[in-house]
Amino acid sequence: MENSQHTKPDVDRAVLQDATLVVRAGMTSAEQGQSFMPGPVFAAAFHAAGEPGAVPYTYGRYHNPTWTAYERALGDLEGGSALVFGSGMAAVMAVLGSVLRPGDVIVMPSDSYYTARVLVDSYFANLGVEVRRAPTAGGAQLEHLSGARLVWLESPTNPGLDVCDLPRLIRAAHDVGALVAVDNTTATPLGQRPLSLGADFSVASDTKALTGHADLVLGHVAVRDLTWLQQVRAWRTQTGSIAGPMEVWLALRSLATLDVRLERQCANALGMASYLASSPKVEGVRYPGLPTDPAHALACAQMRRFGTVVTFTLPTQQSAERFLAASLLITEATSFGGVYTTAERRARWGGDMVPQGFIRLSAGCEALADLLPDIEKALHRAVT
Ligand SMILES: *Cc1c(COP(=O)(O)O)cnc(C)c1O
Repeated sequence: MENSQHTKPDVDRAVLQDATLVVRAGMTSAEQGQSFMPGPVFAAAFHAAGEPGAVPYTYGRYHNPTWTAYERALGDLEGGSALVFGSGMAAVMAVLGSVLRPGDVIVMPSDSYYTARVLVDSYFANLGVEVRRAPTAGGAQLEHLSGARLVWLESPTNPGLDVCDLPRLIRAAHDVGALVAVDNTTATPLGQRPLSLGADFSVASDTKALTGHADLVLGHVAVRDLTWLQQVRAWRTQTGSIAGPMEVWLALRSLATLDVRLERQCANALGMASYLASSPKVEGVRYPGLPTDPAHALACAQMRRFGTVVTFTLPTQQSAERFLAASLLITEATSFGGVYTTAERRARWGGDMVPQGFIRLSAGCEALADLLPDIEKALHRAVT
């Protein structure tokens, strides 16, 4: 009782702006002498006597308090209920595996994330799932919806950065009785909220901008429907596609800076995209936030931020390699969304239909005033 004058009611999270929400997302309620954020809980087994249903935590593959804290924060950001997975692909697989049965039809972008396409082709097609493909740009999926069980969308796509009209496709898919999943990795829930746009599943690799420090691999699924929440959770429990508590705790800690990171990274992405678009040495610059981008109008209608990734093409493989080698501030690496500006020549992997000189650039948190002269010098050396 003595301390009761020091406790405060929890704030109503539903009314908060994103910047406030991400800062408050992982916090404990104000109890005297407690840390702002609980530490990671490492446990295989928890104290659990008697009836297991009456104990909140029993075994580490079923649940973990650190997951609960992260999932609550993600749920607030997504406008639904979230489940954390050991990687983005584990989250993708959880939705595909929970929904698809032999004889079902999946409609998928021909330009979606490479490994998701490989998974569907190598695993689900062999189980007797019919796979229909159409490119993301132009809404070509609309012609393939009849009889579909699941429509898989990705917008903006990695690496092409094409955008599809999500509300329109989601409505059309629901009209034929299909479920819709959106891979929201490039946007993050601060850039785009698939569940608010009508999707049944929002899926993401938290490895990228959401956690943003290039130091962990993680994914999540968010849903509004509690039956699907149960089924996707059962998938995680039964397949064991779980995340370690340390990674999840790092992710929760990283969420607090999501809004400020994105503010800087999106501004840097736009600044670099504008510069690249103005250079005669560069072709095909794509960034949904660029007013001249073919996806700009659609992106403005459904996105609140345009993301951290910019793509462009240099004339040849050699000029792209020279550019990457000559830049001192762009770190050569795969993946994207981190505080470090990174880039790679995407065709070195194979699998994506991109030119040999195609570069995927991920804007970090550095000063644009340092990045632009560095890019200018590297371009000067790479392309004559
Ligand atoms: C990286 C990525 C994934 C896979 O996520 P991992 O965390 O690497 O397993 C899925 N979708 C998109 C769009 C991605 O960029």
